[in-house]
Amino acid sequence: MQSAAAGAALATLPGCGDPTPPLAQGGPGYAPGSGAPLPWRNWAGTAWCQPEQRAAPQSESEVVDLLASATAPVRPVGAGHSFSPLVPTDGTLFSLDGLNGLGEVDDRALTAWVWAGTRLGPLGPMLEARGQAMPNLPDIDYQALGGALATSTHGTGAALGSISDGVDGLVLATATGELIECDRSRNAAVFHAARCSLGALGVVTRVKLRNRRPFRARETTRMVPVDELLDEAPARAAAVPFWEFYAFPHASVGMEIATVETDAPVEIPEEEDLNALGEMRDLAVRLVQAGRPGVAVLDAILGGLPSSERTDTSHRVLAHTRVERFHEMEYTVPAEAGPACLREILDTIRAEKIPIIFPIEFRYIRRDDAWLSMFSNRDGASISIHQFHDLDYRPYFERIEPIFWKYDGRPHWGKLHTLDASRLATLYPHWGEFEAVREALDPSGRMLNAHLRQVLGA
Ligand SMILES: Cc1cc2nc3c(=O)[nH]c(=O)nc-3n(C[C@H](O)[C@H](O)[C@H](O)COP(=O)(O)OP(=O)(O)OC[C@H]3O[C@@H](n4cnc5c(N)ncnc54)[C@H](O)[C@@H]3O)c2cc1C
Repeated sequence: MQSAAAGAALATLPGCGDPTPPLAQGGPGYAPGSGAPLPWRNWAGTAWCQPEQRAAPQSESEVVDLLASATAPVRPVGAGHSFSPLVPTDGTLFSLDGLNGLGEVDDRALTAWVWAGTRLGPLGPMLEARGQAMPNLPDIDYQALGGALATSTHGTGAALGSISDGVDGLVLATATGELIECDRSRNAAVFHAARCSLGALGVVTRVKLRNRRPFRARETTRMVPVDELLDEAPARAAAVPFWEFYAFPHASVGMEIATVETDAPVEIPEEEDLNALGEMRDLAVRLVQAGRPGVAVLDAILGGLPSSERTDTSHRVLAHTRVERFHEMEYTVPAEAGPACLREILDTIRAEKIPIIFPIEFRYIRRDDAWLSMFSNRDGASISIHQFHDLDYRPYFERIEPIFWKYDGRPHWGKLHTLDASRLATLYPHWGEFEAVREALDPSGRMLNAHLRQVLGA
């Protein structure tokens, strides 16, 4: 059972509490009566648009037909959970919400074809009913599979890859009206590009996921001196399949979250007390502002928090409920540089008294061979910084982002960053090959909005 105090601390993490439906809904998206397309905005409120058309196909052939006639720029949309402006368009907003659920399931090979509009949340129980589970999940499960794939969305685990890595094949509808089925042996270049495409190659309609048998997971959360976590990060991550921690800026403790497979019975703690969230945030800000004595009190409060546990089927443990709105920047640095990079960030925050209390998330992810995945050709440590949605994130993010650059960081495509193609091209060994595929599939750039032109340089 989780204590109110632990609930309060957790509440300062990226939004714990009851689920809130995503703001950016799919569906037809037209105003009743006038028939005008509704405006769109993302979950964080950092991106919005007024599309001229909204397309919501109900079949793969309809995807192909609608793509051919849609007003450009055509931008696919999943659940709108990206912070960066990947989606906005004044042309056509293209939702795959109508294409969801399972296709062919192979019980022997443990693979399943899944329609790209399927949200990760409902996908867990669907797969479990067919004797399968995804090997890992991101921190939340509101995303659509197509949206998560397009940004190489990931969870944590030194031996576990991102969603882009867990794909054995996919079907892509292009802006020129082709339907391309690809895997490692058929249309391999398209496969390597489309496993993390930013939605720039066309619309992914179906994805063949490589799964495993369902499993039960136990998550243990406890407070640990942050120096210990930084010193021992590689060893702890090697010993625990799903390992991560949150560092609390200014404090000397971090929250370790260690998740293992188990046969133990299901045990889920009570919901966190949402009212504690606001109280903890205000208190923490006041303590940090009070200087050294205040930080000592914060340390004592955080350090004294009891540990907590959750045990359940994997998809209910690996993904969390996040309702607190926030802004986020995440970079992936080479795995071996992760602890040093986070240490420099924490030292900078302390030395410059940056008034931030939002915890910083640290995760490991195994390398893959998707061309634009943040984990392309190298094992990664991802570090995420956040700011509450109602506070200005820019001064903090602007100060920390150059530290990520020092460590060869690659920005998460779905999160806030300021890099453009000239810099990004130097970070990805297969950058030119991706651009060649993009150019071949969409020579007139019908899939590109202003942000994609900036980051891809197309
Ligand atoms: C609270 C919160 C927690 C998060 N936690 C994590 C985390 O733990 N790990 C992590 O890696 N990320 C995390 N993210 C980021 C998020 O997973 C990614 O930004 C993801 O891409 C969002 O998926 P979506 O379905 O909302 O897609 P959208 O944001 O709607 O779109 C993302 C991209 O996918 C493209 N796209 C959508 N559908 C298709 C399709 N069918 N074919 C081709 N392209 C398509 C869009 O054009 C766009 O480029 C988090 C975000 C939030 C808000």
